[in-house]
Amino acid sequence: MTLATDRPAAPTITHHFRLFIDGRFVDAASGETFDSINPTTNEPFARVAKAGREDVEAAVRAARRAFDEGPWPRMSPAERKRILYRIADGIEARADELARLESIDMGKPITEAREKDVPRAALNFRFFADYAALSHTEMYEQRSIGVLTYTLREPRGVALLITPWNFPLMLETWKVAPALAFGNTAILKPASASPATANVLMEICAEAGLPEGVLNLVYGDGETVGMALVEHPGVDLISLTGESSTGKRIAAAAAGTLKKLSFELGGKSASIVFADADLDVALPGSLDAIFRNQGEVCLAGSRLLVQRPIYDEFVARYVDGARAYRVGDPLDPATQIGPLVSPGHWERVRRYVGIGVAEGGTLLTGGDRPAGPAFERGNFFAPTVIGDVRPEHRVFQEEIFGPVQVVTPFDTVEDAIRLANDSRYGLAGMVWTTNLDTAHRVAAGVRTGTMWVNCFFVRDLRVPFGGFRESGTGREGGKWSEDFFTESKSVVLKLRA
Ligand code: NDP
Repeated sequence: MTLATDRPAAPTITHHFRLFIDGRFVDAASGETFDSINPTTNEPFARVAKAGREDVEAAVRAARRAFDEGPWPRMSPAERKRILYRIADGIEARADELARLESIDMGKPITEAREKDVPRAALNFRFFADYAALSHTEMYEQRSIGVLTYTLREPRGVALLITPWNFPLMLETWKVAPALAFGNTAILKPASASPATANVLMEICAEAGLPEGVLNLVYGDGETVGMALVEHPGVDLISLTGESSTGKRIAAAAAGTLKKLSFELGGKSASIVFADADLDVALPGSLDAIFRNQGEVCLAGSRLLVQRPIYDEFVARYVDGARAYRVGDPLDPATQIGPLVSPGHWERVRRYVGIGVAEGGTLLTGGDRPAGPAFERGNFFAPTVIGDVRPEHRVFQEEIFGPVQVVTPFDTVEDAIRLANDSRYGLAGMVWTTNLDTAHRVAAGVRTGTMWVNCFFVRDLRVPFGGFRESGTGREGGKWSEDFFTESKSVVLKLRA
């Protein structure tokens, strides 16, 4: 993946993304670069500066100085809010460009990027700017001994924000916005497979008047550059969204400096359809729960549990629904499923289909590249449904992270809860039923961070977001983000009698 800088640019390269350190775009000190690949053609479209030790040091130094000496942590939340709102405005002003870049970079259908991801990125800034401006502290009175104790909240310091490739801009802003709103400075390390929109975000932040060094951008692979940042004593806290295995490695590496950690990790969530469900809601909802964003969704309802009396009919209709998805060029506004992020990921998804069938599952549709010349060059994968899957199968237990649904029947509410909980993950879940008691019993019984009843992907940024078990540690959103991105302090005031 790494290229020498003196290599001539391929004719398909249209962008050059540089590091953003201390308010300036810079090449890597070594001059090294890597290419970002367009998954629709598998040709490089961008050359990206690849940070090394020196750049990591420069980024930490800049963020450290901006935190220890700069104006940002010392501004009032209302002053910060003015700049964060300008960033949100800048995101909206460049929405078309951002959506297009996201599609080219990682294959997301452009309609989804334009209508969901980009507006949400702007909302992340406005929401956390408002939240921080309205934040308040507490006071406790012990009148009998003449003591008032009040609490203060202070920004924690330099935040390292590590993000994945499946919702690049949405998840980068989900971390950058609260980190900055609560007065921290930050270093963003985006996934190497999706560097593009982070670069535009830096331009927007600079134009909005964000002081130098408050937000820095470092590209480079997680194992080296990411790890150097994780271990760096100048970093105070780490928010990661990524695979559970990455979370374990980072937790181990960060232990030496006891950094504060918040991890949003993998998932294998159950989408549970009861016989009394409104099928006009459950069918499109449970299809969307796995096929949105090519199934590259941590929250995906990637285990479909269907109550036995409707199993055959529901699965038949589900397969028809999967076949009706429009797979194609992510830049076509009608496309619903774009290419997977990389050839390597395509191979991994294909391998899982083979495993599922070898274990005894029945391939009901898909399972491979769709036929036709339009699909030959890119990492396209047909919407796939595997029936007769049992809990001991690997495809029931492991995160595939592609457009592959596995289906299992169940009989009772207790069965459904037991099957849903038969997982090392616990990120999300969906229950489709018209019975309120069933909905509540299942929502309460499944050990998972978010349960949706008759819906999917609806988010309120005030509520806690995160996972049970290997799906994460900690929660973010609303006051949970405030807790993570601030330190609390108690001031004990003894009054004269
Ligand atoms: P990875 O865990 O492979 O990578 C995530 C980020 O971590 C990337 O920036 C990566 O860099 C970096 N990284 C990898 N190894 C290290 C390391 N040793 N030290 C520091 N940084 C490291 O995840 P993917 O990008 O493949 O994203 C998919 C995963 O993310 C899925 O498991 C998915 O479920 C999860 N996810 C969870 C969400 C949630 O909210 N719970 C939301 C979205 C996705 P590089 O790219 O250079 O390797």
